[in-house]
Amino acid sequence: MGHVAFGVAAASLVARATGTADSTALWMGAVVASGIPDVDVVFPLLGLSKRYHRNATHSLLFAALVTTTAFAATRMFELKPGTSVELAWIAALLSHLLLDVVTTGPTLGRLGWGIPLLWPFSTRRFHVRRPWFVGDRTESHTFRDTLREMREDALAIVPSCAVMILLVRFWPSL
Ligand SMILES: [Zn+2]
Repeated sequence: MGHVAFGVAAASLVARATGTADSTALWMGAVVASGIPDVDVVFPLLGLSKRYHRNATHSLLFAALVTTTAFAATRMFELKPGTSVELAWIAALLSHLLLDVVTTGPTLGRLGWGIPLLWPFSTRRFHVRRPWFVGDRTESHTFRDTLREMREDALAIVPSCAVMILLVRFWPSL
């Protein structure tokens, strides 16, 4: 939920900057793009190690591959979302990586849950010293932990993003 809110906020910022009109494609694309890096949660859900999460799909290289594939697909199927809509989608996709970095504090960082932005060229995992929106979380082990984090995300990230979206949309042009 936090990723969708942050992704839509990032897309709305780009849409405002480029003067892009509202459309279903713009917002639905932003919602989808903001969640793409977490496709890797299917591995733990299939019973594999949870360490498969936050790996290759959380890298800038993967974001570039997704972008290139999406561009090729829109050209192949003659969909013409327009450059500014595509830019908003890219912003939503990249916002996922940014949000994961800024909500990962030193404790999770020490446990190896930082974001491998430069994979496969570097093993460095990015996190921050003081997380935004949330506290210095540790690993969640139970379903209850996950639910608590989701509630925390909904209460901390979603309202901040809602304010940002409203400001971006209704701030008068100079
Ligand atoms: Zn993620």
